[in-house]
Amino acid sequence: MSPPPQDVLVIGAGAAGLTASVMLARAKLRVLVVSTPNRRNSCVESVHNVPYAEGVSPQQLYGRLEETAEEYGVTLVWDEVLQAEADASGVAVTTRGGERYTADRLLLATGPIDELPPWLPEDVWGKTAFECPFCHTHEHDGKPFASVGRGLEAIGMALMSIQYATTMTAVVSDENAAGTPMAERLRQAGGIVLVDEVAAADRDAAGALTLHTKGGHEVAAGALLIPGVKKHNLRFVPQLGLELNENGGIGTTTLGQTANPRVWCAGNGSGNGPYFMWTGAAASGINAARSICEDIAFGPLLESYWTQVKKTPGDQGQKA
Ligand SMILES: Cc1cc2nc3c(=O)[nH]c(=O)nc-3n(C[C@H](O)[C@H](O)[C@H](O)COP(=O)(O)OP(=O)(O)OC[C@H]3O[C@@H](n4cnc5c(N)ncnc54)[C@H](O)[C@@H]3O)c2cc1C
Repeated sequence: MSPPPQDVLVIGAGAAGLTASVMLARAKLRVLVVSTPNRRNSCVESVHNVPYAEGVSPQQLYGRLEETAEEYGVTLVWDEVLQAEADASGVAVTTRGGERYTADRLLLATGPIDELPPWLPEDVWGKTAFECPFCHTHEHDGKPFASVGRGLEAIGMALMSIQYATTMTAVVSDENAAGTPMAERLRQAGGIVLVDEVAAADRDAAGALTLHTKGGHEVAAGALLIPGVKKHNLRFVPQLGLELNENGGIGTTTLGQTANPRVWCAGNGSGNGPYFMWTGAAASGINAARSICEDIAFGPLLESYWTQVKKTPGDQGQKA
């Protein structure tokens, strides 16, 4: 039997969705979370830079969060949302399992989509290959590193991680990048800038990679950084009539409000730039939960309330 209409429906039980759902349920709202099980970092052995959870496994981290959500009465359903609708009468989602759930408000917390390069071997993403210079580089201290990308992002990531590397090679496809001050800075720090493209990669039993470039070079990559893997998740944008921001992500205020007054968006799937990494995604879930609570409590008085209390800069940031 389908659950009764909810106050808030959340798509995505990751950092943003679970964090928001606990806050909403603690505000005595009926919350239903529909999610597929794979979070962005489900592939890693341990999680880092998450307060109180340094070094725990994703299973431990999400298991504890799911327990907490359920303790507060959140209903958690494992299914994929295929269709989402939101108009003046409320919101509804339809799932792959054939269920239809309804609510007053919707929080999109689907996370981004990671598009891995075709040459990346199986089972190295999240083990020896990453997008982030903060999450797992420390665990690869003392290895040869490579950073692969089009241009400045790859050089920037190399500069951010060179302190761990025995050798650091930035492989960039844009030859203009090699002549930039950033490239010079990397060279001065002891790194190499190679204008080339990766054609293939081998891995050893421990996941250490050897990159083979189109130009015939071999580059050792005990740890590999690949900036630009993360793509905006725009799956529900047309269905919900959402607007995009200048970066091509879902346009939201800093409190996660979208162009659709029934819909909020939080986490790395939103276009909300400052909220990066796990704790950033969780923080944007907190902001969205706050905004949903305010929307419910203040109703049509929301805008005038903010005008009267002289909103602080950023609290009601721009949608675009
Ligand atoms: C390899 C790797 C390692 C990382 N390691 C760290 C780390 O150590 N520390 C750190 O701070 N950050 C780390 N990150 C970043 C961190 O994982 C993300 O910042 C965080 O998970 C983003 O949270 P989110 O809620 O936006 O998305 P997610 O946590 O990915 O959650 C989104 C959820 O929505 C679900 N979903 C998507 N579409 C649908 C749909 N249509 N229907 C139902 N459910 C759906 C997904 O399956 C998922 O469960 C890592 C990222 C990667 C890629």
